[in-house]
Parts: sequence; structure tokens; C-alpha cells
Amino acid sequence: APILGIETSCDETAAAIYCGERGLLAHVLHSQVRLHAEYGGVVPELASRDHVSRINGLIRAALGEAGVSPADLGGVAYTAGPGLIGALMVGASVAAGLASALGVPLIPVHHMEAHLLAPMLEDPPPRFPFLALLVSGGHTMLVDVRGYGVYALLGESLDDAVGEAFDKTAKLLGLPYPGGPELAKLAESGRDGVFRFPRPMTDRPGLEFSFSGLKTAVLTALPPDADAQTRADLARAFEEAVTDTLVIKVERALQAAKLDRLVVAGGVGANRRLRAKLAERARHLGVALHFPRQAFCTDNAAMVAYAGWVRRHGGQAAGGALFTTPRWPLDTLTPPRAAA
Ligand code: ATP
Ligand code: MG
Ligand code: FE
Repeated sequence: APILGIETSCDETAAAIYCGERGLLAHVLHSQVRLHAEYGGVVPELASRDHVSRINGLIRAALGEAGVSPADLGGVAYTAGPGLIGALMVGASVAAGLASALGVPLIPVHHMEAHLLAPMLEDPPPRFPFLALLVSGGHTMLVDVRGYGVYALLGESLDDAVGEAFDKTAKLLGLPYPGGPELAKLAESGRDGVFRFPRPMTDRPGLEFSFSGLKTAVLTALPPDADAQTRADLARAFEEAVTDTLVIKVERALQAAKLDRLVVAGGVGANRRLRAKLAERARHLGVALHFPRQAFCTDNAAMVAYAGWVRRHGGQAAGGALFTTPRWPLDTLTPPRAAA
């Protein structure tokens, strides 16, 4: 039976329906970008309130688009964490109420597992095992993925996440929130080689990242009266440094884990430079490369419905109690248990 997925971990409110036999039946989303823009970042209290006002309408829209009635649902999946606790509580409460009223399982979903599984919605889906590069607003991780719920963390950022580094650097360059896509757009008119920033932590072994120094490097190089071309050149150099760093570590991780399949997911996975560089390296190395479509790189409920279906399919969900958690290490997950 179809699974309803609900996403409210940050500043996107979303609902989707996934069904094992028929695939993704519907996905709808409301972005709060304009709500938070004037504050230059997500205001948690405003996010929670806006989720409350949008979520029921979005669920109805997803059911309508899918042609599924609530009574047909086989479970309700929701993002339980990691994320903003007040925002998570909205989706969790709605999901719990609905699941209890319908008498179907409530399925908590790990937001980063959902990001990681998003490419499974594409054709062809990646086969296990693979290396996952998770690059989002809150996370930068290299994960050795052996199966559903079998995740070994190979490396992560010691400070800023990549998306966070994009957003903070964009702010320095005077770009509106959310800065990542804006910086990428500005970088397109930047000239190559005018500025050059370090590729942090690539001169020593290891799979850890550090991105906070790059924004400082941009700030130091930024003249007080920088014209548009100079700012574009800085954006270009920043994007080159970040994407080169990611590519170098990905190649290292593929070798270390002896993997020949790569999955890239999370909001920064939408970055064109990164996609082009990884595609070029993957071709050279004979590595199969899988991305979600652009819309499923950033937060969405399709990936939550899919992850929920995977968990339900494994028989995990029955009797699930409502919970939310702001922090939840990905490598503490276990495979969905086989149905009893
Ligand atoms: P997390 O998933 O870690 O909880 P999040 O849900 O806020 O964080 P996502 O929605 O996956 O993160 O991605 C948002 C991030 O992706 C933002 O930091 C945004 O700037 C960045 N981003 C989106 N598009 C691009 C792009 N084209 N280039 C660079 N960064 C981008
Ligand atoms: Mg977001
Ligand atoms: Fe996310």
C-alpha cells in the first residue's frame, strides 16, 4: 500500500506518496525561502509556525495528485531528525495523528538516510554497495553504503558543512539568502584563475573536510569597494576550491573503500560545477555516477516517502512511537528488520 511521506525538518514543508509497485505517485512542496529572506537565515520559530499553516493543505494536495484516499495508505513516514526540533515536531505530530486515526504504522525517517536514498527514485537506481557523498546545508559526509541501513562514515567536515560554507561566503559577497545557488550563479560570470584559494586538508591523508577557512580566505581577498566582476571572480575561485576539494576526497574514498559506484545527494549536489567535475572524474575512473534530479537534491518529501517505504517494507514500522531528535548520527542506523 502507498506510504505518505512528510518533511518539515527545516524550511521546506513537503508531502509525497510512494508505492512499491507504482513508484512515486505525487510530491508537493512549499519553500519558506521568502519568509526567512529578510532575516538572512532560517528563523526556527517562524519555520515551525509556517509548517503548521501549510502541512495539511500539502498532504491533501499530494493525496489528490496521487489519486489515493487516506484509507488506502499503508503507513505514514515523517522526518524525525536531524533538524530543527520545533519544525520536526510539526511533521511528527501530524504524522502521528494521521497514522493513529487510520490505524496504520507511523514510520520515523532519518533525514540524511532519506537524502542518501533519493537517487533510488531515478532510473536506473544505484545498486549496493556504493560511496555516498552527502553535501547539504548541515552535513558533509562520505559514507560507505553496503545496503539499506548499513552505513559506515568514512569522513565528515570538522567545521562548516559545504552548504553552510556556500551560504556564509555568499553573505560576505553581499548575495541574498539562501546564498548557495546565488553564489553558483555569480560564479558563472567569474574569470578562472584571478583568485586562487586552498583545497583544505587535501595535502595530507584522510577523508575529513574543513571549509570554514575558505570563507575567511574570501573575506581577506575581498576589497572593501569590490566591483561586480571582482565579486564574480571571488565566487568562481571559491566554487573551484570547494568542488576540487570534494572531488579529491571522493576519489580517495572510492579507492580506500574499493567501490566503483558513487551517489551524490543533498542540496549542494544541485551545483553544476560539482556535477560536471564529478562526471568527468567518474568517466575517467570507470565509476558509475548517480544523482537525484535537481528538485530531489534539496529537501523534499519524495525521499522521505521512499525511505519510509524501505523501512516499512523491511517490517520495521509496526507500533512505532512518535519521536523527534535534533541530532542523530547516521551510522547508528540498522537495516530494516525482515518482516516477522
Ligand atoms: P541538512 O540536510 O544537512 O539538514 P538542509 O536540509 O538545510 O541541511 P539541503 O536542503 O539538502 O540542506 O540543501 C540546502 C543547501 O544546499 C544550502 O546550503 C544551499 O545553499 C545549498 N545549495 C543549493 N543549491 C546549490 C547550488 N546550486 N550550489 C551550491 N549550493 C547549493
Ligand atoms: Mg532548505
Ligand atoms: Fe536536507
